[in-house]
Amino acid sequence: MSFAYSPVTIAAIATAPGRGGVGVIRVSGQNLLPFAQAISGGKIPKPRYATYSDFYAADGSAIDNGLLLYFPGPNSFTGEDVIELQGHGGPVVMKMLLARCVELGARLAEPGEFTKRAFLNDKLDLAQAESVADLIDASSETAAKSALKSLKGAFSHEIHVLVDELINLRMLVEATLDFPEEDIDFLEAANARGKLAGLQAQVAKVLGTARQGALLREGMHVVLVGPPNVGKSSLMNALAGDDIAIVTDIAGTTRDTVREEIVIDGVPLHIIDTAGLRDTDDVVEKIGIERTWAAVEKADLALVLIDHREGLTAEMQTLIAQLPTRLPRLFVYNKIDLTSEAAGLSMEDGHASVRLSAKSGEGVDLLRQQLLAQVGWHGAEEGLFLARERHLEALREGLQRLVEAELVYEQSELMAEALRLAQDALSRITGEFTPDDLLGVIFSRFCIGK
Ligand code: GDP
Ligand code: ZN
Repeated sequence: MSFAYSPVTIAAIATAPGRGGVGVIRVSGQNLLPFAQAISGGKIPKPRYATYSDFYAADGSAIDNGLLLYFPGPNSFTGEDVIELQGHGGPVVMKMLLARCVELGARLAEPGEFTKRAFLNDKLDLAQAESVADLIDASSETAAKSALKSLKGAFSHEIHVLVDELINLRMLVEATLDFPEEDIDFLEAANARGKLAGLQAQVAKVLGTARQGALLREGMHVVLVGPPNVGKSSLMNALAGDDIAIVTDIAGTTRDTVREEIVIDGVPLHIIDTAGLRDTDDVVEKIGIERTWAAVEKADLALVLIDHREGLTAEMQTLIAQLPTRLPRLFVYNKIDLTSEAAGLSMEDGHASVRLSAKSGEGVDLLRQQLLAQVGWHGAEEGLFLARERHLEALREGLQRLVEAELVYEQSELMAEALRLAQDALSRITGEFTPDDLLGVIFSRFCIGK
């Protein structure tokens, strides 16, 4: 691993900003016992036990008091010596304590730097390290549980099983390279073809599960199209059901992309409201509209909301015509409680269309099922782990290489090379073959103190 770091001591406030009962400062470095003594007035903390202490400034006055935890390396999260100071969770106290740590030789930690050190010291592999951030960012209980599974190594284990079998197959194929005249018979006798087919099936299966896991993490981007008062907010609340609707309207809603997020069956739905897509001369608002269009470009689905009594208005047809043609549409006729129509599902120009009442809730379940079907969500099943687009790419490439290996089965040298590339692709997931710049990108997206 070429991605080295200087073993300088790092420190950060690990708890969320703001006021809380307890605030935690985390410190990682080498030989931190003198550090612990300096801040606790000479105490020698027992490893992995809580030591109650005052925390002292350089002039001997107390800054705070609380618990000091000392985890000598390598049995710590980062693999180095780790100290945690659990003080009072006020921003001023935390800032003073952090400043004291810097005075004692620490520098401020970068985002994700503790986890990065854990990875570099082989305490976690890359997929596990990523799941630390995913657990913190999880937007549903299902996502959180799946992230924890990945963190505990469930996903990495699947990859290791695949890589081990791949290595076995590679050994078989490479053994034939020295005896080219007999290679095919040898491979046939060892059932290399069956092993290759089995590997392809296994990678495809893991890819299927990873796709579901990625859905849980990334969710689905939905463009909401509908005139004022058609029932957009009512529908979002009805869809969210028992889940609390997490409304994240970005500041200056009329000027920026309007987004709301709700969760259906564990899958986050990111709603882009086209209410912000009106004509305007306001320069700032124009920028916001451009951003909204950029978000629309990347969306997975357009949800067109129509008042059943009015049908599709000319204004809405104009807006729909502006949407990217590749974007699937789902039509929703709302307010059926004000008509004699019953809830139901039908097809309209090749697009699904749902009749419902956001107010009475009739037909809302039908829409939920349609939305989940659109993204291919099978429901939270056993063994689901959280995955990222990066993992899907690696699995897709691994599968592709295995298919290539089959195509060149009669040419051992080419087959050996294809298998080697398949292994490289799969190993990228756990980080055995991951370029430094990618590591930088992955860890820079963590929060500070993690
Ligand atoms: P938005 O402007 O598109 O977000 O629309 P709202 O959700 O704020 O709804 C506008 C009005 O329509 C409110 O008074 C809602 O109570 C009402 N409304 C929404 N959905 C229904 C429905 O299915 N049936 C009836 N009767 N009223 C509805
Ligand atoms: Zn709204």
